[in-house]
Parts: sequence; structure tokens; C-alpha cells
Amino acid sequence: MSDALDAYDSDNIFAKILRGQMTAHTVFEDAMTFAFMDIMPRADGHCLVIPKTPARNIFDASAEQLATCMLTVQLISRAARLAFAAEGITIQQFNERAGGQVVFHLHYHVLPRHAGVSLRPHTGQMEKTEILSANADKLRAALAKL
Ligand code: 5GP
Repeated sequence: MSDALDAYDSDNIFAKILRGQMTAHTVFEDAMTFAFMDIMPRADGHCLVIPKTPARNIFDASAEQLATCMLTVQLISRAARLAFAAEGITIQQFNERAGGQVVFHLHYHVLPRHAGVSLRPHTGQMEKTEILSANADKLRAALAKL
């Protein structure tokens, strides 16, 4: 293993979404963070939280990126609990290929959970845009009530 991390690649999918070069179903944004629907949801309402500034993952992220993302993760978790009557929330965050990371811009998965319902496997199947849009609407409506 080399000690050096691969450099941040500004052509990753999430960087393109942040630059408006690819579309996403936006749920929330503030000065430092951005939240949007995962295109291949492993649970209904699966949302991603990312910093607006470049970070590959946990290894190079700044304290400010980590702190602001976690506050947005908490906000989205509270909204998801309301929006989807979630009984629990699973937070996931993967680092480097061996850690399960596929997109190399720091991101947190916020997964609404219900007792007895397993997470769906990574099928590579994209969700219908109407469903992603409806779930983003539900999350935004819930955020407005917090
Ligand atoms: P990870 O890097 O944490 O393993 O997974 C990356 C996540 O990004 C996956 O859950 C995948 O479904 C999601 N994803 C990949 N490409 C896109 C995309 O173009 N748009 C959105 N909204 N999500 C994506």
C-alpha cells in the first residue's frame, strides 16, 4: 500500500452535479452542503449529502466539511423520519474502493428504515425519475415543517 491518496478528480459525477453539468433531484442546500436523491435507491427516500467543496473521502476531508455535512445529515435524517414515517435511519459512508466507495467525492448515505425491511442490493437499476422527484418533494415538505 502506498501512503499517497489518489488526488481529487473534479470530473467525478457529484462534482458535475454541483457544477450543474448533470441533473439531480435536489432536497436541500446551504453554503457548505448539498443533499439530493440517490439515483439507485437502496431504500425509499435514499438521499445523499455532500460537501460543496472538493473532498475525496474521510481521509482528506476538512473539519469544516465533516462538521457541516454531519449537521445536514442530521437535518435530512429528521426530515426523512417524518416524510417516510421511518422507524429508523441508517447512515453509510464509504472510503476508497476497498471500503466500498464508487464515487470519489465525499458523501453520506441517509437511508430511511422500517422494521423487518432489508436494504435493497446494489442492482445498478436506476429509479424512475417520477419516483425520485416525488420523494424529493416529500423530503422538502418535511424539511419545511422542522
Ligand atoms: P458509494 O460511492 O458510496 O459506494 O456509492 C455512490 C452512490 O452514488 C450509489 O448509491 C449510487 O447509486 C449513487 N449514484 C451514482 N451515480 C449517480 C448519479 O449520477 N446521480 C445520483 N443522484 N446518484 C448517483
